Amino acid sequence: MPLLSPATVPLDCRLTAPCYPDWRAALADAVRDPTLLCRLLKLPPSLAETAKLGAKGFPLLVPRPYLSRIRMGDPSDPLLLQVLPTEGELIHSSRFTTDPIGEASSTLPGGILWKYQARVLMVTTAVCAVHCRFCFRRHFPFEASGRDGLHWEMALAKIASEESVSEVILSGGDPLCLDDEVLAGLVGRLDGIPHLLRLRVHTRQPVLIPQRVTDALLKTFRGSRLTSILVLHVNHPAEIDRAVEEAIGRLVDAGVPVLQQAVLLRGVNDGVDVLTELYQRLVDLRVMPYYLHQLDRVAGAAHFEVAPEEGVRLIGELRRRLPGYAVPRYVRETASAPNKVPLA
Ligand SMILES: *Cc1c(COP(=O)(O)O)cnc(C)c1O
Ligand code: SF4
Repeated sequence: MPLLSPATVPLDCRLTAPCYPDWRAALADAVRDPTLLCRLLKLPPSLAETAKLGAKGFPLLVPRPYLSRIRMGDPSDPLLLQVLPTEGELIHSSRFTTDPIGEASSTLPGGILWKYQARVLMVTTAVCAVHCRFCFRRHFPFEASGRDGLHWEMALAKIASEESVSEVILSGGDPLCLDDEVLAGLVGRLDGIPHLLRLRVHTRQPVLIPQRVTDALLKTFRGSRLTSILVLHVNHPAEIDRAVEEAIGRLVDAGVPVLQQAVLLRGVNDGVDVLTELYQRLVDLRVMPYYLHQLDRVAGAAHFEVAPEEGVRLIGELRRRLPGYAVPRYVRETASAPNKVPLA
């Protein structure tokens, strides 16, 4: 049998990322076992042993389309570091806590976070298609805030009763882990609340499982009275392959403004060259850089922290290299400020 050249192999059909009938199948087939991950990526089995310790409270989870972008045999690959628990996760630091930005106290019944004027954040699901090791909600009390139909009713009732709210942010977990019908139902309900103007979706899904950008999803966005805005979490240019480019293109072509946010992460994207490349790639895909977040001090993530002074220096260098619109706002989230606090 003739060997297919890489160019003729459909992107999602490489060894580590088989073709899936739909995004649900890709989610179900995500890698959850550190030993399997290390075998697929030709990494030393000893890394899997460490990973098992780190994964205890927050299991490993990587969908294969994302896995296919990780370099084989490279323990310091910037995508791998985001998903594989390393020794750093076992370091305990009293300055890194389970609720670094005081979300527990601003969570209302129904799983809504109302910290800022005019916009509320709705925790729609605890599910993500990946477990980012630096995730600030890795210890979030999802069970207590609830995410079944009843809790949504409470959230919707609260939003409907607060006329000062003009924007709802769907977050999680990842709201695009909800099925299209469920999402369409929720958006339909929000649509019916007269004082709402905008719907924002914070997601990483198009980067994890690009197949998630379905026609039904685009129809939901297009069919709503609300202005839909998508904020995509992308940290590194290597996260963007052809399939991701195409998924982003479909969103933008459908008229959905796509903004981007990243977390500044030691060993992943804390260099001016990598950030320059990231922001150039994004604007060329018609995605506008929005926020670069200073890491929230969540327990288990201390090894990812970059000093704010270093972040400020990086932003200064980006300003020299890039057009103004390609430079994100470098911000920190705090428990008490009425907005995200600009650092640069
Ligand atoms: C980040 C965030 C928002 C949105 O803030 P913007 O500055 O409008 O992007 C809203 N609510 C909560 C709880 C947030 O953390
Ligand atoms: S996609 Fe977002 S919410 Fe989900 S694990 Fe990663 S950082 Fe956390």
